[in-house]
Amino acid sequence: MRRRALVWFKHDLRVCDHAPLLAAQACEDALALFVIEPEWLQSPECDACHVDFALACLAELRSALAERGLPLLVRVGSALPVLAQLHSEFAYTELLSHEETGPGWSYQRDLAVAAWCKSASISWQEFNQTGVVRRLGSRAGWARLWQERMDAPPHVLDGSIKAAASLDQAELPTLASLGLAPHGKALQTAGEQAAQRLLKSFLQVRGYDYRQALSSPLTAEQACSRLSPHLAFGTISMRTVHQATEVAIRGTPDRAFAHALRGFAGRLRWHCHFMQKLEDEPAIEFQNFARVCDGLRESDFNDAHFAAWSTGRTGYPMVDACMRSLLATGWLNFRMRAMLVSFASYHLWLHWRPTGIFLARQFLDFEPGIHWSQMQMQSGTTGINTLRIYSPSKQARDQDPQGLFIRRWVPELARVPLPYLAEPWRMDPAVQRMASCVMGEDYPLPIVDDKAAITAAKDRLYGLRKTEAARAEAGQVQARHGSRKSGLPASGQRRAVKTSPQPSVQVAHQAELFD
Ligand SMILES: Cc1cc2nc3c(=O)[nH]c(=O)nc-3n(C[C@H](O)[C@H](O)[C@H](O)COP(=O)(O)OP(=O)(O)OC[C@H]3O[C@@H](n4cnc5c(N)ncnc54)[C@H](O)[C@@H]3O)c2cc1C
Repeated sequence: MRRRALVWFKHDLRVCDHAPLLAAQACEDALALFVIEPEWLQSPECDACHVDFALACLAELRSALAERGLPLLVRVGSALPVLAQLHSEFAYTELLSHEETGPGWSYQRDLAVAAWCKSASISWQEFNQTGVVRRLGSRAGWARLWQERMDAPPHVLDGSIKAAASLDQAELPTLASLGLAPHGKALQTAGEQAAQRLLKSFLQVRGYDYRQALSSPLTAEQACSRLSPHLAFGTISMRTVHQATEVAIRGTPDRAFAHALRGFAGRLRWHCHFMQKLEDEPAIEFQNFARVCDGLRESDFNDAHFAAWSTGRTGYPMVDACMRSLLATGWLNFRMRAMLVSFASYHLWLHWRPTGIFLARQFLDFEPGIHWSQMQMQSGTTGINTLRIYSPSKQARDQDPQGLFIRRWVPELARVPLPYLAEPWRMDPAVQRMASCVMGEDYPLPIVDDKAAITAAKDRLYGLRKTEAARAEAGQVQARHGSRKSGLPASGQRRAVKTSPQPSVQVAHQAELFD
């Protein structure tokens, strides 16, 4: 039978290391497709910034594929009718795509597509592109599988692909034609070429101070790789990043640089480790890992607190600066993301689901498996992780000692003297007038009392974690989702993974990470 391929692009908007493209080359002819699904556009996590970035990636991908002879069709509609319509226009026998570990709606869509392919005798082949393992029985051995996949040779497309008779290749839609308002964010550059440039500059120069610089929002902006939106949209593969990093580590005579890059390499594993949690338990998008936490925050959602937090008007300068920076750029470094969530979940006692939806829309790199796992970790609902409650004032003093970040993003505080910048409510009225910042008028007073809020949060969580039910469930969560280091190459550089099935609460000033 004549083999005709449809390459269905999703979160893999690249040409390099793309297994479905290679498989298409082995067919008699092929077409490529990206579907802009209303289910995505209407999902609560989707923001115009994501669509904008995807459209820019698609424009570049369309040219790159055209150079290899393959037309990229971009259609708007639900996946199933689009795939069926295309099948009536071009009788493809193979549907080729990458596996996706996405939100609930994409999982339901995949079930429907699989059933339809079966009924239409179309072979749907899904290739993996991350370390996420489908139908994983146990986490034991997962790290070894990750390593094997990432060390495997990349898929190199040699020559062109024979295109099927050309179908209508309409212009790419725009945000306006999709009914979306402008997002106003200054986003990172989209596309495969930008991803390759970022990787190169990080591995050659920017990554030198990675370990020291990743915690401050001032230094992290340059010293982190900034590859996260590219990994989320698939403009670069995890294997490409991993292999280039290993080459850079082996190639540098500078031990300090190699050490920095090893820290980065570890985080690439975390990416897939967190995604695996959603793959194994899709419900964590909606419900607590530790069901003993059900009811903890559900009933007292404070809309005024949410409004203040989400607009950067809490009265805590570091929290407000981080939120405003995120709203303007779509990116924030790990520690400051964790602080924002800690403040929302502990100080304001807001449930992680609405705050997580809000942040998902702001993060250009929204990756459901990482996002929901992290939202729950930073909210104390995994049952297994050390509780980390950040002090916003301490974070301001530690991560922004000169006050540059706060002054940049919270201009109301521009003239506040440095000793007061982390806690401007301590200024007496004369200083406030001198600084042109009257508290409660020019800048909000703190919406909650730091110490009282932390004490209340600790009491509630300590109380819960001490119960027999919490301890018993922690063991189950750990067995299902906890990391296993076995199977990884021996490395003195890997930090011990901090997990704790026992109750443990601390005010974190040294956030590092875990599972
Ligand atoms: C509440 C919360 C939500 C988050 N949501 C997301 C998300 O939706 N998408 C996302 O990619 N990251 C998320 N992170 C993790 C982390 O903040 C970002 O990956 C990182 O800031 C991205 O910047 P970078 O690419 O420069 O990272 P780098 O420090 O250069 O790291 C390289 C890559 O490693 C991975 N990585 C780094 N840190 C982590 C981590 N803690 N957990 C898992 N993977 C990691 C990412 O793929 C990242 O691109 C979240 C963190 C928190 C606390």
